[in-house]
Amino acid sequence: MPHFLSTQDADFETRFTALLGMKREDSPDVDATVAAIIAEVRARGDAAVIDYTAKFDRLPLTPETLAFSPEEIAAEVAKVSAEERAALELAAARIRAYHLRQMPVMEERWTEPTGAELGWRWSPVSAAGLYVPGGLASYPSSVLMNAIPAKVAGVERLVVVCPTPGGAVNPLVLLAAQLAGVDTVYRIGGAQAVAALAYGTETVQPVDKITGPGNAFVAAAKRRVFGRVGIDMIAGPSEILVIADATANPDWVAIDLLSQAEHDQSAQALILTPDADFAKAVTAAVEKRLETLARREIAGPSWRDYGTVIVTRDLAEAALLSNRVAPEHLELCVADPEALSEKITHAGAIFLGSWTPEAIGDYVGGPNHVLPTARSARFSSGLSVMDFLKRTTLAKMTPEALRAIGPAAETLAISESLEAHGLSVRARLEALNARD
Ligand code: NAD
Repeated sequence: MPHFLSTQDADFETRFTALLGMKREDSPDVDATVAAIIAEVRARGDAAVIDYTAKFDRLPLTPETLAFSPEEIAAEVAKVSAEERAALELAAARIRAYHLRQMPVMEERWTEPTGAELGWRWSPVSAAGLYVPGGLASYPSSVLMNAIPAKVAGVERLVVVCPTPGGAVNPLVLLAAQLAGVDTVYRIGGAQAVAALAYGTETVQPVDKITGPGNAFVAAAKRRVFGRVGIDMIAGPSEILVIADATANPDWVAIDLLSQAEHDQSAQALILTPDADFAKAVTAAVEKRLETLARREIAGPSWRDYGTVIVTRDLAEAALLSNRVAPEHLELCVADPEALSEKITHAGAIFLGSWTPEAIGDYVGGPNHVLPTARSARFSSGLSVMDFLKRTTLAKMTPEALRAIGPAAETLAISESLEAHGLSVRARLEALNARD
């Protein structure tokens, strides 16, 4: 049974706080294994990557076969049906159009009354590496969601690493990589692939930023190489929170809840509603759908262990509680979703109204589906073009500007006992005084 709470219950605050603190992820501690793999790849390069790929993915490779050849990619891509290709092309076009709108003005510059010119400039990282899980879950949609923002941002070199256990390849992953403009796809995975991307080997050129989900080994490796390269985030199990009123369809809400529960036994689905009868109808609909859902062995335990139904006083109270959860995905299945969305301050993505199932956002809506989990929407955002851009500040003094603000810099330098700092300003001010 899912957790049932009502904000009218005397122990509501205690139970809700426990819900917020609930640890769902049960990742094994793999850090020592990963540290050893990274050290081996740094020491032995390609040879180590090849050994680990033989061991973990049962795939014999050589430096020449680490990457898919153009002919191999063409042969795999030819297996994709016309319907799947059209769907992937539609998704790619919509994701590209959305992310193009995210691009900031590339250079901002203004002149102050002192004469000083100030500003900043954005520039893309030069090379990015995208991890695509190759074991249990390999999602072509995730390839598009990671690779397209990178290309839109202007990343010059974009590579994919994707393990192919026993040589098994998902042709849709290769097509997605092709559509997104990926330059090279390596058939390597795990910590050894992350290490190769961060440090480089004889065959794999190092990148500047690594993005994309993976298992505990991949996550631990990303944590370890952070600093050497940038990373996007460490994603936890998926979450959905639905706020619904009696105008919503309980069966639709039920399937939307299950659409996240089916990802992972540790996924969490929450429904908040002011209508107790509607809450009952949704839970009944979830149970009914679970009888036949193909992934009921995953969605069932997720719903029973982490699923939560909260009956609130009104929609405003539901919004307040939702902000405390800061869910990855938030659906507003209510009569006036625009008005309710005004009250939302913390959520990775908002889906407004009953005609917007979260699954649209997973594939073809346009916004990114790589979103902050585990309440991190309190302080972070989903993947965007910004993840592949850096901001460089610009400053240009004139003699007048230096005269106006230089003495304050010199005072602060002296107070910090940094003599050369002060002298670098003083030397210029004295030259100006001598000139006058
Ligand atoms: P994966 O590609 O992440 O991991 C496979 C690799 O793990 C292997 O190539 C191997 O190198 C390494 N590995 C396995 N056992 C090892 C061991 N004992 N020692 C050292 N290395 C070992 O594929 P996966 O395992 O199927 O995991 C996919 C993960 O990605 C899942 O956890 C899934 O939840 C997650 N995922 C998340 C999202 C998301 O958007 N959050 C999307 C898709 C997948």
